[in-house]
Amino acid sequence: LTSGLESAWNKLKGEEVLTKENIVEPMRDIRRALLEADVSLPVVRRFVQAVSDQAVGVGLIRGVKPDQQLVKIVNEELVKLMGGEVSELVFAKSGPTVILLAGLQGVGKTTVSAKLAYYLKKQGKSCMLVAGDVYRPAAIDQLVILGEQVGVPVYTAGTEVKPSEIARQGLNEAKKKKVDVVIVDTAGRLQIDKGMMDELKDVKRVLNPTEVLLVVDAMTGQEAAALVTTFNIEIGITGAILTKLDGDSRGGAALSVKEVSGKPIKLVGRGERMEDLEPFYPDRMAGRILGMGDVLSFVEKAQEVMQQEDAEELQKKIMSAKFDFNDFLKQTRAVARMGSMTRVLGMIPGMGKVTPAQVREAEKSLKIMEGMIEAMTPEEREKPELLAESPTRRKRIAQDSGKTEQQVSQLVAQIFQMRVRMKNLMGVMEGGSIPALSN
Ligand code: GDP
Ligand code: MG
Repeated sequence: LTSGLESAWNKLKGEEVLTKENIVEPMRDIRRALLEADVSLPVVRRFVQAVSDQAVGVGLIRGVKPDQQLVKIVNEELVKLMGGEVSELVFAKSGPTVILLAGLQGVGKTTVSAKLAYYLKKQGKSCMLVAGDVYRPAAIDQLVILGEQVGVPVYTAGTEVKPSEIARQGLNEAKKKKVDVVIVDTAGRLQIDKGMMDELKDVKRVLNPTEVLLVVDAMTGQEAAALVTTFNIEIGITGAILTKLDGDSRGGAALSVKEVSGKPIKLVGRGERMEDLEPFYPDRMAGRILGMGDVLSFVEKAQEVMQQEDAEELQKKIMSAKFDFNDFLKQTRAVARMGSMTRVLGMIPGMGKVTPAQVREAEKSLKIMEGMIEAMTPEEREKPELLAESPTRRKRIAQDSGKTEQQVSQLVAQIFQMRVRMKNLMGVMEGGSIPALSN
């Protein structure tokens, strides 16, 4: 798809403006590229028409070449085609949120069940999985193993109980345990049949689910859109989850589902690991299709990893009593960014319960601390001992930051207190000692 589109842009190189004539060839390439990507013909027709209409009407923008203009229009239309905005999962206002997963055999329902539980758990929600695939004992085992892997309880009732009965029992259990989200895995068939649909209808009636998500394999191409449509008409669904987008699927499924079925893709699976599930971002998908790379997704992942490494690094430092002013700054700034100062405040000695007024006060005192830390040399930041030993250094910092020597002494004392406190927090028995500041 990407290379097909590239040849479309290339045909516009050297042109001054987009005209009815010079877009004919590029539009033909776009049309072909979409069809090759397994986008259904009616969708392709509408898409090409929409892009052409806009391209001809668009005025000349200084500094923007016609091929770039066309890329922009195609991008916008792709985003629109895929539903525009991210379609968020809906949560119940009261009681557990119930998510029913449906789909053909082998598309990734069981994997998605566990991935979804993991995904929601990371957001602080308690989850429970229900093993509703009663046809293969292995399917239940598979869910139990995955549940263990992500640390989420799995409700099972064996293979002798009807799926709707398991659903009823599972839901009761979830209500008793007051879990936030119940995710119900179901059996799939190789193709749509009446038995599967009737069973799903029964399960749905019992559960009265908040979300009914159809799991579809991206490899099925435009067939995916037809499946979503059929399931929606038969049982009524709230959206789709597209799996195996990491494979060499041609992307057509992602493009057609919303347009054909009217139901959004809410999440996508990009691999077999538990963390390989993410929201479906139409704009990023468009970016990927256009071959501009999925920069946003990448940046987000990189950030996640970096934060984790930071946290591990910090933990190591605390364990070895090396917590220094750099960590102090990093920590306070990170938490300040999160808009919640309370955690850091709790760590500062002498601060117990915090009121909003105290938070404001503390933000002010953090500003003061930052000023002093900025006046330290890198060596001093890493070795607060230097400051404990040297009144001259403390004096210099006070002068450079416009604070009093007493304030600097307080800050230095504080970092040692924090070390002790944090060590205690970590459950380390032999706490470090607080040196007396020499005069
Ligand atoms: P179910 O029959 O619908 O429950 O499908 P399963 O969850 O058992 O998955 C079938 C196979 O697809 C398993 O081998 C999974 O590991 C694999 N699978 C599921 N989701 C993905 C995905 O997003 N990417 C890849 N590459 N494989 C996946
Ligand atoms: Mg399964």
